[in-house]
Amino acid sequence: MSSLIHPDRLLPADPSVRAVARRLYAEVEALPIVSPHGHTDPRWYAFNENFPDPARLFVVPDHYVFRMLYSQGIPLEKLGVPRADGGATEQDGRAIWRLFAANYHLFRGTPTRAWLDHAFATLFGLEERLSERTADAAYDLIAEKLQQEAFRPRALFERFNIEVIATTESPLDDLAAHAEIRASGWGGRVVTAYRPDPVVDPEFEGFTANLARFGEITGEDTFSWSGYLAAHRKRRAFFKTFGATSTDHGHPTAATFDLPPHEAEALFRRVTGNAPVSAQDAELFRGQMLTEMAGMSLEDGLVMQIHPGAVRNHNGQIFARFGRDKGADIPSPTEYVRALKPLLDRFGNEAGLTLILFTLDETSYARELAPLAGHYPALRLGPAWWFHDSPEGMKRFRAMTTETAGFYNTVGFNDDTRAFPSIPARHDVARRIDCGFLAELVCEHRLDEDEAVEVARDLAYGLAKKAYKL
Ligand SMILES: [Zn+2]
Repeated sequence: MSSLIHPDRLLPADPSVRAVARRLYAEVEALPIVSPHGHTDPRWYAFNENFPDPARLFVVPDHYVFRMLYSQGIPLEKLGVPRADGGATEQDGRAIWRLFAANYHLFRGTPTRAWLDHAFATLFGLEERLSERTADAAYDLIAEKLQQEAFRPRALFERFNIEVIATTESPLDDLAAHAEIRASGWGGRVVTAYRPDPVVDPEFEGFTANLARFGEITGEDTFSWSGYLAAHRKRRAFFKTFGATSTDHGHPTAATFDLPPHEAEALFRRVTGNAPVSAQDAELFRGQMLTEMAGMSLEDGLVMQIHPGAVRNHNGQIFARFGRDKGADIPSPTEYVRALKPLLDRFGNEAGLTLILFTLDETSYARELAPLAGHYPALRLGPAWWFHDSPEGMKRFRAMTTETAGFYNTVGFNDDTRAFPSIPARHDVARRIDCGFLAELVCEHRLDEDEAVEVARDLAYGLAKKAYKL
């Protein structure tokens, strides 16, 4: 075992509780990974090319990493993050890596540090903490391994013990990478998920052009309300042929609406017309579309996920220079009880619908989300997400939701990652924290240990498969 990671990491500090947690963890440690929601690139699995170098594996694509470095004044150009205008950025992987290593202390106390150390230790056998002093030796060791067959994406997928992974694609994606995976005969199970924000959100970049493209792809008149809805139905069916079992909706709020058909059609004409779309109409349309999508989910069985509450692209200068997903998305307060009511009035009692709710606003856990999920048959709670996908975030999630929603209105763990080597690390963190939480219940005689074993296995594996129909 590398000195970078301790065998008891993240387990309770109290020795008697830790002993129970260790026994529970031993039951789930080696279970396969079910990854029902994430953002890895399907081209990795399709083409199975070696990752180019350590910086392009660990730094350049990971907004958790470069946002922290940026916060301390390091320009994204120096970290090799591509510019929207194609302007010059650092291309030398070793230079990027040295800068990252010299600033590795910035990640102390963050989950990013735990995920990176887990990957450095278990995948690459690093023994020493990354720093300015160890930067070159670590780079050489990782770079050498990345050239090997055993470190290509498919080999890593198998080594990570991934039973199934979902990627996330826009309706405008041709799913060519997924077709390539199918055609290759490789046995790894990679499925897509339907993420229609680019054609559902009137404030998404290029919305009108996206609708035109949506029409070309589906052969429907996507500038008429009925044609637009038909295009969604067709595209959802196409995504299902590539294994999709879910949709995903990244809206600024959880607002839903259920307008009468003629009003919905008039709204559609306004958001697709020549006049600028008002913020109010944009919100109304996104909310109406959540209810439309819930109706389609009831027809075609796709599980629906709502990821609300991120104010995207908060930093206008970074957005202009680098585009989306550059670590400048910031959580905002999110209300669910009234926002979801129109959708729930229509579909909340349908046990045949699964709607999984996420939040970036932890104040809603005990007050809103757990009571909602602990009542409506259509609702489930997604795991602690994004800024809360962390040891403390997971503990807060369990502490604030379990007494009202129980464990069985939750859906296991999502890694939600773009950073491939972090997948086993993230699932391992969730398993350890859940085992620690369960061990506390056992030691307080609130749960028998055999029940805790069953719950631990469900949280690590069974619930994700069931909720996402995988
Ligand atoms: Zn996501």
